[in-house]
This record gives sequence, structure tokens and C-alpha cells, in this order.
Amino acid sequence: MQHFLLSAKARTLSLKAVFRMGEDAAYRTFCDLRWPETEGEAVCPRCGCTETYNITSRCKFKCVACHHQFSVTSGTIFSSRKLSFTDLLAAIVIFVNGAKGVSALQVSRDLDVQYKTAFVLSHKLREAMALEQASAKLDGIVEIDGAYFGGYVKPENRKEDRKDRRLKINASGKRQCVVIMRERNGRSLPFVVPSEGDAVPLVRDNVANLATMYADEGAGWDALHNGWNTKRVNHSVQFMDKGVCTNQAESYFSRLRRMEVGTHHHIAGPYLAAYAREASWREDNRRVDNGSQAMMVGNAVMASRQSRRWAGYWQR
Ligand SMILES: [Zn+2]
Repeated sequence: MQHFLLSAKARTLSLKAVFRMGEDAAYRTFCDLRWPETEGEAVCPRCGCTETYNITSRCKFKCVACHHQFSVTSGTIFSSRKLSFTDLLAAIVIFVNGAKGVSALQVSRDLDVQYKTAFVLSHKLREAMALEQASAKLDGIVEIDGAYFGGYVKPENRKEDRKDRRLKINASGKRQCVVIMRERNGRSLPFVVPSEGDAVPLVRDNVANLATMYADEGAGWDALHNGWNTKRVNHSVQFMDKGVCTNQAESYFSRLRRMEVGTHHHIAGPYLAAYAREASWREDNRRVDNGSQAMMVGNAVMASRQSRRWAGYWQR
């Protein structure tokens, strides 16, 4: 059988198609994503009225009822956009196509926009991906595992100056733990915590009571036995013990690690959670064709509220 990613189904929206469709069609795509219930006809975000005047020259609408002026991106993550709709759609396609993530530098080169623009745009798309993930509790078999990111300490040049980096006293204090909870054949939820055991209280909020937890021998997971049917696999002995394993969680970390090492080279602490959520979105949707992935992200962008964190980021 042909691998999914090699099949024609996996590539349903190409950059070529985006640039061929042109600005008007790209604009209509955003209208369709924003107002699906009226098939792309504008709806006033203030009063819900569907009667609007078109101010076509500026891609704006004016509400007949309350005279509110708005555009297709008003109030969303893409509000006060400066890029064309073609560029925004292309950015989404470039972004979803990067299995290991896409660096802001690459977006900046591919779209010929400033690095700052690409940086904020990428983070907005990450935010949309996070919104797109449903928040219902995980159930069934849920694998849980943690891995540490950040806090790299560079070894000194001379051997006699080098410190034992395994010792806590020589650590940078910036190391953080990403914990993934991953439903078998289902969704995954990442969290950033100081160490594995700190994630146990979060399990209560995010995993159903009757779920079965699979965890490795890490002492932090002992507390899980108090709340859930919990099965352990000792990785120093074997990776799979009578069907119990955390291989799906490992697969997630392998992707996040490749994103860190291969794409971004360094992930700054405050952004770790955003990248962790992006990796989980990519894992959960890895078998969805790229056109549908782009529409999912586009849909989330248009359904979003203006970003608190990223709106006017460089103007502060
Ligand atoms: Zn109105």
C-alpha cells in the first residue's frame, strides 16, 4: 500500500494553486471560512445583521442596521492585516506543509516579507491550531509521558574548566518538562510543567475517570494509581509489556524534538507551550490531507478572537 503522504489525496492544496487562484478568489475563501452559515455573505459582528453595504474598494462592509464598518478579518487573529489575502492563504499552506514545523525565517523568504512579520504570523497560526483542538476529556487508553526541553548549558572550551552538566547545581534552571497525554487512536494534549509529577493534577481536569493510563517507570507517575486504572512499562527492561507501551507518546516527542533540533534550533522558554501544541496538532492531523489541514487552520483563524499576545506585537 502506498504511504498516505505519497498519495495524491495528501496534496489537495498546493502553493501553485493558491497563487493561480489570485487575490479575489483568496479573498472569497476567507469570506467562506468566516461566514460558512451564509455561504460567505457578510454578517455584522456587532449586531448579527446580514444586510450590509459593500465598500468594495477597501474590502469593507457597512452594516445596514447599526452602521458598523468591518472587514472579513475584523476581530480575528488576522485583524489589521497588512499582507494580501493570497499571501495569508499561502502562509497557511506553507505552515501546514512543514511536518517538522516551519521557521519564521523560511516563511519570510518564501513570502518575501520581513522577518518580524513572518515571526508574528507564524505564532498567530500556532495560536489558531491550538484553538482548533477540541477540549473534551481524553478517554479509553491514555498514554502519558514527559520529556525535557531547553536549558542547554554549553560546555567550556578547556576540559579542566568543564562542569558536570548532569548535576542540578550546574543546570541553567531553564529546563522545562513537556508532558503529553495521548489517547490511543485519538487526540493528544500537551502541557508544560517543571517536572513530570507536576502534571498529575492536570490529568484530573483532562482525562476521564474511567480511562486507563499507560505510563513508564518514572516515579512521578506513581500518584496516577490513586485516581486511574494505571499500567506501567519499565523502559529499562522493555518498551512493550503485554500491550502496555507509551510508543504514541514517544512518537509525539520525536516530532517535537525534530522541530526543535531540525527547524527552530532553539525554542525560547516562553514559547515552548505554543510549539508543544503545534506538534500535537500536527500529530493528531498527520493523516489529514494538506488542503483540509489548511482549511482547518483557516477556519480556526476566522473563528478566533483577536490575539491578545500577538496583536500589534512590534508596536509595543
Ligand atoms: Zn450591525
